Amino acid sequence: MLTPFNLLLLTAVFGVVMLFVLLSLMRSGITGVRHWLAAIVCSIVSLLLYAARGKIAPILTFELANALYGAAICLLYTGVCRFLSRPVPAKLLFGTLALLIALIAVFHYGYDLLHVRIALVSIFHGGLCLAIGLLLLRAPQTGPTHYSYRFTAFMAILFAFAHAVRGVVHGTGIEELSSAFQSAPVNLLFISLGALVMPVFTMGVVMIVHDRMMEQAMAAANRDFLTGAWSRRAFFEFADRELVRVQRNRRALSLLLFDVDHFKRINDTHGHAIGDRVLTEIVQRTEKELRGMDCIARVGGEEFAALLPEVDAASALVVAERLRAALGTHVVTEGPTVNAAIAYTVSIGVATLVPSESIAELMRRADIALYEAKAGGRNAVVCAVPDSADKPVIEVRTLPLPAR
Ligand code: GH3
Ligand code: MG
Ligand code: MG
Repeated sequence: MLTPFNLLLLTAVFGVVMLFVLLSLMRSGITGVRHWLAAIVCSIVSLLLYAARGKIAPILTFELANALYGAAICLLYTGVCRFLSRPVPAKLLFGTLALLIALIAVFHYGYDLLHVRIALVSIFHGGLCLAIGLLLLRAPQTGPTHYSYRFTAFMAILFAFAHAVRGVVHGTGIEELSSAFQSAPVNLLFISLGALVMPVFTMGVVMIVHDRMMEQAMAAANRDFLTGAWSRRAFFEFADRELVRVQRNRRALSLLLFDVDHFKRINDTHGHAIGDRVLTEIVQRTEKELRGMDCIARVGGEEFAALLPEVDAASALVVAERLRAALGTHVVTEGPTVNAAIAYTVSIGVATLVPSESIAELMRRADIALYEAKAGGRNAVVCAVPDSADKPVIEVRTLPLPAR
């Protein structure tokens, strides 16, 4: 038979199962998981204490049980903040919880007013459920996280609504209860909804953590580990998609292939770590110079490619020259105290898609242009003439190399 006692025990058992599900995510190293685990532990203990009401000391089944259930929702909220890298208002959160428990004690031992206790608990839990829902809805949602965030936010708001209704029905005394766990049908409905809170939130956070892990795995496959630029694999995927699009719409597509000049010398002079910093800064600087829709990838050790959709040959040349100048003046700092002006330059080969050309052919022409830039003295932009693939023309001046 469905009684509040059975429901509480069943939820506690389900909580233990959820605990093991969440434990499997511990090794993901994702922040927030520890707080969610602690939340489940608190909720299991509090459910057992609620179930023991009438059998053990009231302070354990009223004040301690409420403190633990309140701590569970606070920890859930904290976990969401940590997961989303948001500040945790810990003092406000746990200070309010302490106030709630003090008020419950007052309206338990001072004036035994059940409806006031229900109103207080409903406001606290409903408010936090709503806060969790809003946090998730406002979080930047990228890639696969969309569904799991929305699902958990929707459930959180639904629970907030249920708490609000309970607060109005039982908290204002519209319908008097003799005990918080009375078997009246409406009360049973609220207890059942309350029993669902932790399992549903656990399912939500499991989905969210899985999505985050998927995002991380996709980023690892598509991003260069050192510089954060797109990987070679991701570049060709992007390029193939763009090729189809621009050929269908008869739009322009240009490619810049650039390589750091005498990079080996930078490594030899300043060390590999500084060489790595130069590569990272090149990507950061390039991202600033180009548009968000351009794809910047690391296609070799110190060789990069930038695919510029909707950019014709004349504009590509202007962009390449701007990029060469921006990178050529850049300085890499060696550490917090030492500033080492590491002058470096890049050579750039530019090619613009001709009709029915493949990405491999476009790359080959840009590569030839890059080779010309190197052969012509480096620190230069060379453009492959569209209709004469094998004969790139040196377009832009070559600047003298900086003194070493
Ligand atoms: P050039 O102007 O002809 O391009 O000369 P270069 O010295 O830049 O070219 P080279 O191909 O001789 O040397 C490339 C160097 O890039 C050698 C390699 O050790 C270094 N390199 C490749 N990948 C990395 C990396 O991830 N980090 C660092 N620090 N160096 C790298
Ligand atoms: Mg080089
Ligand atoms: Mg190279």
